[in-house]
Amino acid sequence: MSLRPETKAIHNAAIDPASGAIVPPIALSTTFEYETTGLEHDPDQLIYTRWQNPNRAALEATMAQLENGALAHAVSSGSAAMLTIFQALRPGDHIVSSDDMYFGIRVQLNEFFAPWGLETSFVDMSDLAAVRAAMRPNTKLVILESPTNPMIRLADIAAIADIAQESEALLLVDNTVATPAAQHPIELGADIVVLSLTKYIAGHHDVLGGAVIFAKDGEFAQRVTRLVKIGGAVLSPFNCWLALRGLQSLSYRLRAHSENAGQVACFLAEHPKIERVLYPHHPSHPQYKLALRQMKLGSGLMSVQVKGGRDAAIQLVNRLRLFTSATSFGGTHSLIEHRESIEEGSSTPANLLRVSIGLEHPADLIADLRQALA
Ligand code: PLP
Repeated sequence: MSLRPETKAIHNAAIDPASGAIVPPIALSTTFEYETTGLEHDPDQLIYTRWQNPNRAALEATMAQLENGALAHAVSSGSAAMLTIFQALRPGDHIVSSDDMYFGIRVQLNEFFAPWGLETSFVDMSDLAAVRAAMRPNTKLVILESPTNPMIRLADIAAIADIAQESEALLLVDNTVATPAAQHPIELGADIVVLSLTKYIAGHHDVLGGAVIFAKDGEFAQRVTRLVKIGGAVLSPFNCWLALRGLQSLSYRLRAHSENAGQVACFLAEHPKIERVLYPHHPSHPQYKLALRQMKLGSGLMSVQVKGGRDAAIQLVNRLRLFTSATSFGGTHSLIEHRESIEEGSSTPANLLRVSIGLEHPADLIADLRQALA
């Protein structure tokens, strides 16, 4: 039976055969009894939690299904997911990367991997000619976020997948902001999807985690699989359990985040003290048409540029009562952050606030913004 994502997310783990429990138990044991069968082990045999664990296996199977991939790995953070991918490349390889992305990934590439001989060209992914021009014979990987954090820029995933394929490079899409509830990069031609589970997937501000999903098994996927098992940046059983629990309501939460964010974006876009709202499903977004085509929902993340510069932006944060001044996004609580203050080597405009719209009632959020802007 072909199941829809909402159903897959709920029927994500088998009933526990030992107890009949619908909610899977947390397997905290680091080691498992196994029968020695000689040199060859059954690949499904549980041996040691760094290699595999029942909670991780259940989360990975669900992530692979939701992203339409062949296999997935659950790792200790979204950053660790990217780190593992970069570690699986070789000195002399070249990466073409989006010039707007979560700043920590740029730091990984510039500070740690450039000295190892992994070279990166940063390009504007909305400029397809620039992407094509950046490709080299040794380009192994193209990486993009869509929408990006924090500028909420989009990339045409299908068009960039064609460019990557022409050069026999792999396309990796960070799908953290849109999530598989709104966007399916693998259907658009991506080879690898990365997610920070910390955000919408777990969804409640209480899990740090990441996932790598491969469209197909193959040489690079196997190299990453080896690195996960041997390197050990794996997600703990408890965090896997929490992420899997959060995942059950992802589709419904993302609809509510998107509905709330749509209303807040409309309010802010009309406000005289706001210079610009960046939200994919708001008609003022420069890539609105692409957003409607590529993203089923607008998600809950937006950026807002406040008239009056840095001071006015910070003042707005300080006047809000329901929005918490905090980093991260994708959870139940609405968060707001002066982004330039937290990013290392930031080129983010000084008047930009990144806003994560939570699951509070949108009228309360708008009332709070109205009083803070008054
Ligand atoms: N990708 C995106 C788009 C992010 O926004 C973040 C973190 O904010 C990451 C990856 C890194 O994820 P984590 O914080 O789980 O390491």
